[in-house]
Amino acid sequence: MIIKIKDLKKKELTPLAATYDAQTLDLEFEDLHYRKKISLAGSAELTEQSLHFYGSLESEVEQICNRCLKPVASDVQEPFDFTYEIRDKKMIDSTMDIRDVLILTHPDQFLCTADCRGICLYCGANLNHESCRCKAKDSKKETPQTWKPLKKLFERINE
Ligand SMILES: [Zn+2]
Ligand SMILES: [Zn+2]
Repeated sequence: MIIKIKDLKKKELTPLAATYDAQTLDLEFEDLHYRKKISLAGSAELTEQSLHFYGSLESEVEQICNRCLKPVASDVQEPFDFTYEIRDKKMIDSTMDIRDVLILTHPDQFLCTADCRGICLYCGANLNHESCRCKAKDSKKETPQTWKPLKKLFERINE
């Protein structure tokens, strides 16, 4: 959000609102996507030398569990609080700071539950819901399913 200093009055709260597409904020990832627009509601306050801009961000995301690949939807509701030096500036662009706040709410490795048991690499069974269809003992020598396409590719390259 770009805030023009001249639109604000000193020592008076100015309400500000905006909605963003996740794409606009460069917030689309392979294992996470926004199911709704991101809405911002906040207030800006000007003091002698700084601009105080605070409020909250809301949306809904779908994240893919790092272990079992299950998509899980959850609400995003995150406060933000920025202070900018305004000396000699006509406007403040807070877009990248807003993006950073949202990025920090998303864990690097999302899990559907803390103790998610994941997927068997050999037979693809979701171990949260079913027991493994293969016998781990027998399959230890075999290449896990996930690597098979890669292996084929290497074989093709080496031909
Ligand atoms: Zn999971
Ligand atoms: Zn298995």
